Amino acid sequence: MMFRRASRAIRIGDVTIGGGAPIVVQSMTKTDTRHAQATIDQIRELEECGCQLVRVAVPDREAAQAIPAIKRGIAIPLIADIHFDHRLALLALEAGVDGLRLNPGNISDPEHVKKVVSAAKEREVPIRIGVNAGSLPKAQEPEKPTVERMVDAALGHIQLLEGLGFELIKVSLKAFDVPTTIEANKAIAQRMPYPLHLGITEAGTPRRGVIRSAVGIGTLLSQGIGDTIRVSLTGDPQEEVIAGYEILKSLDLEEHGPTLISCPSCGRAEVDIIGLANAVEERLLKIEKPIKVAVMGCVVNGPGEARDADVGIACGEGRGVIFRRGEQVCTVEERDFLEALMAEVEGI
Ligand code: SF4
Repeated sequence: MMFRRASRAIRIGDVTIGGGAPIVVQSMTKTDTRHAQATIDQIRELEECGCQLVRVAVPDREAAQAIPAIKRGIAIPLIADIHFDHRLALLALEAGVDGLRLNPGNISDPEHVKKVVSAAKEREVPIRIGVNAGSLPKAQEPEKPTVERMVDAALGHIQLLEGLGFELIKVSLKAFDVPTTIEANKAIAQRMPYPLHLGITEAGTPRRGVIRSAVGIGTLLSQGIGDTIRVSLTGDPQEEVIAGYEILKSLDLEEHGPTLISCPSCGRAEVDIIGLANAVEERLLKIEKPIKVAVMGCVVNGPGEARDADVGIACGEGRGVIFRRGEQVCTVEERDFLEALMAEVEGI
């Protein structure tokens, strides 16, 4: 069992974050929040792939007014992302959001901060303080290293909330730069008890963003730091959720859906193993069972891995042997590889 930093538990709707609860995978919609139905449709797709919490941008009044309809159309807790305008935070709270992402230090009037905090307290709605390296206050000791400035900024926002008797806090410190994100989170983890939301901000398109996120988030999780994760990608938000679970599965922190074990293929392969692995991966997206499925290209390393998986295929010249829980089930022709393997997966 991996060591995990002890953090305080908070509840966002019916989801617990921190306090040793399983790490929560979340995402953010990319639709215009004012278009409630489009936003609901995207959130439903996210729910289907296991997203546990979702955040929507609330840039104006109309977006805040769409929240009740969105809430009615979805099953997972909803977080409103607010910047600067306390009126939008109040509207979002009245509309029934389960969480806020808001930096109290960015609201200039302390009376306005008080109003938001008291409305959040009354409804027991947590607030995430989110510090991004790219938007640190310019006046704030520019000579200090970025990591220290990020930590100082987060602690400043935390003090503001604590000063108002509010402790339903979640914190994130994100940067595009992976080492900065890692160092900032390690530093803040020692200086406050609240749960941490991890992510690499502006990580990029899926090809690179998934890797940057996996390295950053994975490094921190492997050190016991982090209570909820969001993989930020310039792409379909479902990819964010799929990547999030792959990170957790890689560290044995979560069992979620199938795990595909596939060989990279090489000059020994006598079938299109890359095509087969991609087709199997696509089909496995619809399967919820936490099973291991192996797709192997030849008789050298194939049978061992295929036998160790719950279901596996070891391919040879034009034919493949299917294994189920270590037992050889049948030999199939190349044209039947996919269907025969999936029939075993579905039957297990
Ligand atoms: Fe090559 Fe066989 Fe290994 Fe696949 S399992 S990479 S085909 S040696």
